[in-house]
Amino acid sequence: MSLDFLSQKYESLDYDQCENYYFLLEQRQQQRNLNILRNKGFKRWIVILFIGILTALTACGIVIATDKLASYKFHFLMTKMNQCDNSSFCYTPLFYWMGINATLVAIGSIMVTYWAPVAAGSGIPVVKCYLNGVKVPEVVRFKTFVSKAVGVIFSVVGGLATGKEGPMIHCGAVIAAGVSQGKSTTFKKDTHLLDEFKDDREKRDFVSAGAAAGVAAAFGAPIGGVLFSLEEGASFWNQALTWRIFFCSMITTFTLNIVLSIYHNHAGQLSYPGLINFGKFGEINYAIYEIPIYAFLGAIGGILGALHNSINLRLSMIRLKYINRNWSKVAESVFISIFTCSIAYSLIYLDEDCHKKELLSLNETIRAGCKESEFSVMSYLWLATPEATISRLFHSDDDMWTWKTLLIFFVCYFFLATWTYGISVSSGLFIPSLIVGATGGRLFYLLVKHTLPDESDWADGCKFALIGAAAMLGGVVRMTISLTVIMIETTGNITFGPPIMITLIVSKWVGDYFNHESIYDIHIRLAAIPFLYWEPPSLSTTVYASEIMSAPVVALRSVEKVDRIIQVLENETHNGFPVVDTEEFDFTESGSSLEPSYSSPAHYGRFRGLILRWQLIVLLQEKIFNENDEYHKITAGTFRDAYPRYPPIEKIINLITDQERQYSIDLRPVMNPSPYSMSHTASLNRIFQLFRALGLRHLVIVNDYNEVVGIVTRKDIARYRQHCHRGKLFLQTLQISV
Ligand code: ATP
Repeated sequence: MSLDFLSQKYESLDYDQCENYYFLLEQRQQQRNLNILRNKGFKRWIVILFIGILTALTACGIVIATDKLASYKFHFLMTKMNQCDNSSFCYTPLFYWMGINATLVAIGSIMVTYWAPVAAGSGIPVVKCYLNGVKVPEVVRFKTFVSKAVGVIFSVVGGLATGKEGPMIHCGAVIAAGVSQGKSTTFKKDTHLLDEFKDDREKRDFVSAGAAAGVAAAFGAPIGGVLFSLEEGASFWNQALTWRIFFCSMITTFTLNIVLSIYHNHAGQLSYPGLINFGKFGEINYAIYEIPIYAFLGAIGGILGALHNSINLRLSMIRLKYINRNWSKVAESVFISIFTCSIAYSLIYLDEDCHKKELLSLNETIRAGCKESEFSVMSYLWLATPEATISRLFHSDDDMWTWKTLLIFFVCYFFLATWTYGISVSSGLFIPSLIVGATGGRLFYLLVKHTLPDESDWADGCKFALIGAAAMLGGVVRMTISLTVIMIETTGNITFGPPIMITLIVSKWVGDYFNHESIYDIHIRLAAIPFLYWEPPSLSTTVYASEIMSAPVVALRSVEKVDRIIQVLENETHNGFPVVDTEEFDFTESGSSLEPSYSSPAHYGRFRGLILRWQLIVLLQEKIFNENDEYHKITAGTFRDAYPRYPPIEKIINLITDQERQYSIDLRPVMNPSPYSMSHTASLNRIFQLFRALGLRHLVIVNDYNEVVGIVTRKDIARYRQHCHRGKLFLQTLQISV
């Protein structure tokens, strides 16, 4: 199966401001009335406040529901297991466990698969794409939000090797997109309170705040949230936006803290800043000679992360090929949930590692073959929510762990995490990666203790578990700055920041050496999304605009016949059309045939502006024809009201009479009169920078006389990808498929 294509089904978002006549008119009116401008600024803060609060409340709902359900489940299973005859393998609890998990996962998977497929996975790849400028269908819809939030509760309680942190980031993004528009397409309600925010650009800024709030809610890491939005999304960034995003993250952390402190009966004691709680680490010290050890652990994490990503890529390709029916997706999820608990249950009974109960409460532990005063260490790892497992790995006494238990758990969990990510359920991979890494860190501690029994005072299981977790996560997701800050904020330990940073940097370098993509980038590539990475491909300076542009161009004249506009919209799928002067050039009048009436040089008239498909649709829908002279009827608001979904042209043509088809439309007041354009001699490198930095959707290519010679879109740029083969660098051009 080839991954060398981009899907045509993804449209682009338009982050370029269309400064047309109506927009400027509105701006001038606002200048005269300062209150409007002040109100807009004030509303922005209010919207941000609500995004922060609602994201926190969603996170609380998820954490409380998971907590309650998981606690019922585990107590029920523990009772059943502790009732078993201690001397033999007991099947009844296994069947209960399989039944409960399969039911929960089936519900979560059915929701996602049949109702909102875009809610599958962690959601971080699609949020990244949205911020990058790709319109992923239904990514910020209400049903996606419900499937994501409710689905993740079922996946986590259903015992899959997943976490709820990634989905939280997607939930924050959906909340932001919904709240900022003041309307709901699902409920067909528009409050018209926030009309000024109805465009891709404003919405994107709110979505980045929502994603940051999601990180803050997930990890109790408000600064990490801001940096996450910056690292993953931003081609756009300014001081005011940073400040608002930070405010949003802080509000989320604060609200979550208050609600969870009430839930945990410690009202006012604000020690629950996020969904995940790594527990108190206290003062972890390190000496300078330990730095190479952290770098070494980082390298191991990088290798394991690369292995994880590589296996997951292959599994995902198999999935795309063979598991593409809805029922089979649900069946796979249910199978994995049954498999996971069967493995866990078998290991609990087969592994004879027992530990004294001592400080642990009796109803938290399972004997499973151990003596009355002991509990099974394996059950301590498996029979808990993933968040509880990670906390146990970080904080339990060093003498609780034996290398055999840890090694078995490490191998099993690594493969389960690798297999589970990508199935059709709402699931995150931060926690599974942290669990695998922390187990690896504990193993490394045992190794150090074993090989250097007298000279290992500096070694500390908790410290190595933390570094191992960071290394593994870094190798899988390849984030550096935001992940470092998230880890520091989550552990509440600034002293240990440099070791975490070094570990993450090394794990990214080593991981990148083996395969250049994070797990999120892999899934973006699998979905064939036209994503623009940070840097242009290395060899792009050698490619010219004239080589990548599309020509012939479908262009429209400044004053165009209604009939031709309809034909162009019917026959072409493009979303943007250059507007050109008409005097010099005569387009073939029939249909949407676009050949210029002369042969050479191939240009399509002097460039005047750019008009988008939806703008033409609104003009036709409102019947703004020269002959009606009703241009005064429309305002900038007319275009915003229709945002973000416009009827297809097929629905509009029935409204237009034969006589009206002979009318004409003046496109000049509506088109963007100053869109970005580039000379045909510009390099792909320069064009890439322009698209990436400004979030462009279309770029018109002109010749030396400002005449249109071609057009380049995001997809044209995304098609160029750097490729390495036998030590040689290639610029690979991907196909665009339907
Ligand atoms: P998007 O789908 O990203 O919102 P779009 O539909 O306008 O934008 P693409 O789908 O990216 O454009 O375009 C597909 C191909 O058609 C690209 O190769 C692009 O260069 C070409 N193309 C786009 N607009 C025009 C046009 N007006 N005339 C001729 N070719 C075009």
